[in-house]
Amino acid sequence: MAAVSCPECGQPAHAEDRFCESCGLSLLLRRTPEGGPQGARRSTCVSCAGRVDAEGFCERCGRAQPAPRDRMEFDFGVVAGVSDRGRARVRNEDSMACAVVGPESAPAAVVVVVCDGVGSTERADQAAQTAVDAALARIVDCLQAGKDPYESTVDGSAAAFEAVELLAEPTSPDLAPSCTLVSAVATEEGVTVGWIGDSRAYWLAGADSRQLTTDDTLHAQLVAAGLSDEEASAEANAHALARWVGADAEPGLPHVVGVPPDEPGTLVVCSDGLWNYLPTAESIAARASGSPARVAAELTAAALELGGGDNITVVAVPYPFHSRRSAGDE
Ligand SMILES: [Zn+2]
Ligand SMILES: [Zn+2]
Repeated sequence: MAAVSCPECGQPAHAEDRFCESCGLSLLLRRTPEGGPQGARRSTCVSCAGRVDAEGFCERCGRAQPAPRDRMEFDFGVVAGVSDRGRARVRNEDSMACAVVGPESAPAAVVVVVCDGVGSTERADQAAQTAVDAALARIVDCLQAGKDPYESTVDGSAAAFEAVELLAEPTSPDLAPSCTLVSAVATEEGVTVGWIGDSRAYWLAGADSRQLTTDDTLHAQLVAAGLSDEEASAEANAHALARWVGADAEPGLPHVVGVPPDEPGTLVVCSDGLWNYLPTAESIAARASGSPARVAAELTAAALELGGGDNITVVAVPYPFHSRRSAGDE
């Protein structure tokens, strides 16, 4: 019999309980908070370990401490993620959201959304956050209403479009914040990945490791059509986004691919801050081992070591996730 406890108050609960009897928390859905998984405010300085005051400055050396958005982390056991500002950008314009649907002892679905604010637009961070929140909420609603992962993925993308469009300033179309979108729904029927833009999903499975997504760029389309990397790169604007989410974008269906349920592996969903440095599934797989939290942290650390030129977001989901239950659950 599975032993579970309420993640909020710690009281024991039965595996089939829908709500915690002590505090009322829903035990059938754990998700990152709307607005982003904010890292806890630091109490000690990142550089000298001095005490940090209420305004976020070190009392000893005066250094401003990184804002929670600069480094976001979450760990639900079956899925974990890290989003980091990197070394070159002034703010983190990526965001991520995640939900685990079903009882903690036997999740029915893991849902992940990663968005990367398009750097040339105002409020790109807001676009990314709005999109992950809208897509995650819609995908979870759809799954709980009995829709299949494909429909849920398509609806989630539509919800992101609707929400991000509302951020545009009607008087100046240039001020239409926009972002990329990649989502993943893992259930016992397999993994369904949907995307618009150049944030990616990879499947890490030894010799069968591969990139699941194809970037919405001219470069990727030319390579898919048979050109070499060099030939494709020679085209003007080869790496410019062909599709994105925003009021100034053509709405349309996301690309969708699946991984069958009988293929064990680890799903990695990421922004280009990771794949700029580790572009191939093999190069990512070589640095991904251990728990999802470790995979996300180590891949982020690798991108930082290699330059950290962009915001970096990495979410990892080992599959099938049921086998990740801790020993002794029987
Ligand atoms: Zn509780
Ligand atoms: Zn200090």
